[in-house]
Amino acid sequence: MTAFEPPRDCEQCPRLHGFISTWRAKEPAWFNAPVPTLLPEAGAESVRLLIVGLAPGLRGANRTGRPFTGDYAGDLLYATLGAYGFADGTYQARPDDDLRLVGAAITNAVRCVPPENKPTGGEIATCRQFLTPTIERFCNLAAILALGTIAHQSVVRALGERVAAFKFGHGSRHDIGGIALFGSYHCSRYNTNTGRLTEEMFADVFSEIRRFLDN
Ligand code: SF4
Repeated sequence: MTAFEPPRDCEQCPRLHGFISTWRAKEPAWFNAPVPTLLPEAGAESVRLLIVGLAPGLRGANRTGRPFTGDYAGDLLYATLGAYGFADGTYQARPDDDLRLVGAAITNAVRCVPPENKPTGGEIATCRQFLTPTIERFCNLAAILALGTIAHQSVVRALGERVAAFKFGHGSRHDIGGIALFGSYHCSRYNTNTGRLTEEMFADVFSEIRRFLDN
């Protein structure tokens, strides 16, 4: 089986490896490594929804080691997951809180933190070697939620399709190979501060996914 988790010292993207090395020296207590996929307690077989973000935030997942944990994007994502039955427990922005996913998993298109949150096209393509088997490992997967254009396009490519045939939009849905691919603007502080994404818009996407999975 192809590895779905990169090694802690993955060097396949030299720029990202160098960036992480710099932060290991500056902040040795931080996680500073490729961030693994977050699974529900019931295991991979229980996963019906996979959420795919862009990449770890420097002071969020790169610091804590858990996707979307420790920055604003996590506040909105985990609150919304809880509201729609995809998580229980209390999110406290720490990997040792009692937040647990339910029937859902969370990963990133690029596993290492990129400078200024901007991975290059080459880095996105290189890290797809982990995204593709991550999608394939979930034998009961029915839906994927891509947060933002880059995540959407990388998922489409991981599913073996052309991005031109499956356009991203907030609230978009495409059916690819038996999987429903939903799209949402990324729940970043920038998007919510500028009004591009409201909490209501984000909730609407999860409501749609919940309805789809329950049917
Ligand atoms: S982004 Fe992915 S492929 Fe690139 S160094 Fe990190 S884990 Fe390896």
